[in-house]
Amino acid sequence: MDIDYQKLLQGYYEAKLLPHDFSEDRVVPDFAFNILNTMGFLYKPIVDEAYLSKNIQTPEWPEGKTFAVCLTHDVDDVSYFSLRQSLRPFTAPFNGLHITQDKLKRLFTLGFTTLRVCKNQFINDPLHCYERWLKIEEEFGAKSTFFFWPGWKNVTKHHKTDPIYDLNDRLIFDGNNCTVAEMIQEIHRRGWEIGLHASWYAYNDVDELKGQKEALEKALGYPVHSIRQHYLHYDIRITPRTHSAAGFKYDSTLGFNNNIGFRFGTCYPWKLFDLGSKKELPILEIPLIIQDVAMLNPSKGMRIDSKMALRYMLLITEEVEKVGGVLTLLWHPNEIINRQSWTLYLKILNYLREKNAWITSLQEVGSWWLR
Ligand SMILES: [Zn+2]
Repeated sequence: MDIDYQKLLQGYYEAKLLPHDFSEDRVVPDFAFNILNTMGFLYKPIVDEAYLSKNIQTPEWPEGKTFAVCLTHDVDDVSYFSLRQSLRPFTAPFNGLHITQDKLKRLFTLGFTTLRVCKNQFINDPLHCYERWLKIEEEFGAKSTFFFWPGWKNVTKHHKTDPIYDLNDRLIFDGNNCTVAEMIQEIHRRGWEIGLHASWYAYNDVDELKGQKEALEKALGYPVHSIRQHYLHYDIRITPRTHSAAGFKYDSTLGFNNNIGFRFGTCYPWKLFDLGSKKELPILEIPLIIQDVAMLNPSKGMRIDSKMALRYMLLITEEVEKVGGVLTLLWHPNEIINRQSWTLYLKILNYLREKNAWITSLQEVGSWWLR
């Protein structure tokens, strides 16, 4: 089967192959619905290779770097022991939480958290150490993007998988007792980018997205340009124009939850397309290539260990380096308590520094590309 690469990037194939039971509450369709996977090209940037075969030079990056690495973090959790946060799902009806099993699971989690809080009331929260991400990235000469969700109170419709923290919740950041909003301000002040981790149901709602963007901007005190949907909940037929209409410049949602690789056959940023009006949109996609939990989560995705994950990461990095593209990585901050995950992160950062990659945030990669 021949693939029209322009149509591929515009989303025609993805829209065509959506599952027959696709609905807004359905689990996100993943790599098995991808046209390139059916052709055996998931781990090859075939669009970029075709582009370069016309003797066109690889993209230029600052300071003569041969490829870029876009480092990102989706902040789904800020505390491990918070009873206040665990109680929240019971204060508002959850959309999509009609199944008894889900309710039981939530109750079980609450009970478990209560036990943890009682048992550990004199022990520090293991997640209150997010400054470590900044310190380690600084050591490697890197910057990154932290996608924060807009806070419990600023989301109208809650999904069972959405985060449960609020921007006024308290935590410890770099030895200081502060609110989530104050941590966000401090991360930004140190030179890292803050993006919006939009809620599950915001994927098709311009007003909701605008509200979430404004809430985060108010907490931050600066404009927010970048977005990634929580759980990668995205509909190629609607979400590009929704993000664009809400005023975002850069998105990095288009990757996989259960695999790694090139969802659109490319690691080059491209302007998204509105399948409805058949027009290019002023929003740049910097596709997600590898996320931590797709490899290391023992109950979903590839279910590999860190040794095997490193092999996959080197394989994909080599492909990105060959075409001089962008390797977008997602490491969840709460995975800092998972030793396998943290050690793998340090190893890959070290490897990328030795490769002389430009390791930076979504906004930096995006603005360089547009220039
Ligand atoms: Zn998330």
